Amino acid sequence: MSVFSHPEYDAHEHVAFHQDPVTGLKAIIAVHSTRLGPGLGGCRMWPYASDAEALTDVLRLSRGMTYKAALAGLPQGGGKSVILGDPRKHKTPELMRAMGRFVNNLGGAYIAAEDSGTSVADVRLMAEATAHVGGLADAHAQAAGRSGDPSPATAYGAFVGLKAAVKFQLGRTDLKGLKVAIQGVGNVGYRLAKYLHEAGAQLWVTDIHYPAVERCVLEFGATAVSMERIFGLEVDVFAPCALGAILNDLTIPEIKATVIAGAANNQLLQARHGQDLMERGILYAPDYAINAGGIIEIFHETHGYDEVKAKAHLDRIGDTLTAIFQRARDQHRPTGAIADRMAEEIFRR
Ligand code: NAD
Repeated sequence: MSVFSHPEYDAHEHVAFHQDPVTGLKAIIAVHSTRLGPGLGGCRMWPYASDAEALTDVLRLSRGMTYKAALAGLPQGGGKSVILGDPRKHKTPELMRAMGRFVNNLGGAYIAAEDSGTSVADVRLMAEATAHVGGLADAHAQAAGRSGDPSPATAYGAFVGLKAAVKFQLGRTDLKGLKVAIQGVGNVGYRLAKYLHEAGAQLWVTDIHYPAVERCVLEFGATAVSMERIFGLEVDVFAPCALGAILNDLTIPEIKATVIAGAANNQLLQARHGQDLMERGILYAPDYAINAGGIIEIFHETHGYDEVKAKAHLDRIGDTLTAIFQRARDQHRPTGAIADRMAEEIFRR
């Protein structure tokens, strides 16, 4: 397994491997960049098929965090960690404390937060061994009723971003009657649906978990559609809020919406799909720009929470997206490529 010549290596500042025979912990921490601040990123626990798969995942995700934090205007770099194991079978309090000690060894270059397979409770266990954790609301945030759950802010940021995309592409500021199809109405998608409904939009929703769909039908008068039909609907906006890689050779030809604006991570299967969307006249809001509400919120919740400042910061997601759209149009390049360039201009200057 190569590290320095790994295709995802991209000049990472640190890649640390750790094994703890007492607790069975096997983990990797990757810190892509600390130029703007410590590398913040989730600690993922996953039953990887191989060590190589875990390394690829942690490198890719840590690099992504650098871009996301830079574009979100945060004084933070990018990092990520992975624990190799099945969270349902192998997770113990001792293992999480051992992970905390591993995080501590990096002396603050990496700040751990929750991710797939870990929870806020796990971050608290890590915090017994290290101060270098994020996502635990401070006293100000708790007093303001904040819990460390990033989903409400992610949904609000996605709503702000969706409005910016609609204004840019369709010239509309009033969402009354706007037709929006939402894929996935879980923590983020449901809240996005609520904002859209309150703004007068008409909704179509799908989810593999039917009660989640039913709730939107009952509360927002949404139309339930099957998972296959969500792509080809005659709507203005498609909002992916479920899973990644859903913009690909099979789905893109079906899409009739001219705006794609949703919170899911890694929506494009490959970068070339961003080019395909542009050629079809579809405005794509780059995922890591529109779904940055969660990391923005977590930053504020851990740095003396001030509701007005936090909201103003979330509202800037709209300005960032508008700047990306404008530059993409001027240079006739895909929005994802422009977002990457703008992030690099920030963290490499
Ligand atoms: P969630 O698990 O609460 O919701 C996802 C929903 O999608 C679930 O209801 C699930 O049943 C549904 N789903 C899964 N596969 C589906 C499919 N094939 N078709 C239709 N529905 C499907 O997760 P979430 O926190 O709402 O996050 C949604 C997306 O946003 C994820 O891609 C996540 O990585 C991304 N994201 C979330 C946050 C956050 O703060 N929660 C931040 C940034 C990005």
